[in-house]
Amino acid sequence: MNLILMGLPGAGKGTQAERIVDKYGVPHISTGDMFRAAIKEGTDLGLKAKAFMDEGALVPDEVTIGIVRERLSQDDCQNGFLLDGFPRTVAQASALNDMLEELGRQLDHVLYIKVPREDLFKRLTGRWICPTCGATYHEIYNPPKVQGKCDKDGSDLIQREDDKPATVDKRLEVNLEQTKPLVDFYEAKGYLRNIDGQQEINSVFQDIDSLLQGSK
Ligand SMILES: [Zn+2]
Repeated sequence: MNLILMGLPGAGKGTQAERIVDKYGVPHISTGDMFRAAIKEGTDLGLKAKAFMDEGALVPDEVTIGIVRERLSQDDCQNGFLLDGFPRTVAQASALNDMLEELGRQLDHVLYIKVPREDLFKRLTGRWICPTCGATYHEIYNPPKVQGKCDKDGSDLIQREDDKPATVDKRLEVNLEQTKPLVDFYEAKGYLRNIDGQQEINSVFQDIDSLLQGSK
């Protein structure tokens, strides 16, 4: 089962990835982990990637793709994989297609967890933190008893820079711009499966599960 998991920040990708891995036993391959592993093992490509990262530069596609190729050729990927955070660009996506073809494999599904932007915005800007005791709250999932105050010590809650509306808005914008061409690419190739991510976590997984069951 060769899968790609896509979704904007706040769509619940991490949770669904965990569940897919638990149930189907495919390795979860996130770009971050892959880079860290390649660097730790000191592979040629890992060292190349590290040189770019140390300079604060973007790692070029050819290096990233090489690292993905190494990873997908490992034993634990022989029965499938769940790619997360790769591909990020259409160039990477078409390189992945070529690579899989060379390896005699093909994608089964590109799961795109879809949540309307307004909802993502609410999810991502809802987090508040107590500066005194570090307790975290969420306007939707875990609201404090008194709005804006810590339940334990009554301190005024604060928002991290990352969770502030302007930052979240920008992050969603950038991600949406990056994701749109990929979604179009996979739609045209017939791999795209839209998953309704607006539902409750269990229902989202049920949808993914029935899709995967149907394709076993
Ligand atoms: Zn507190």
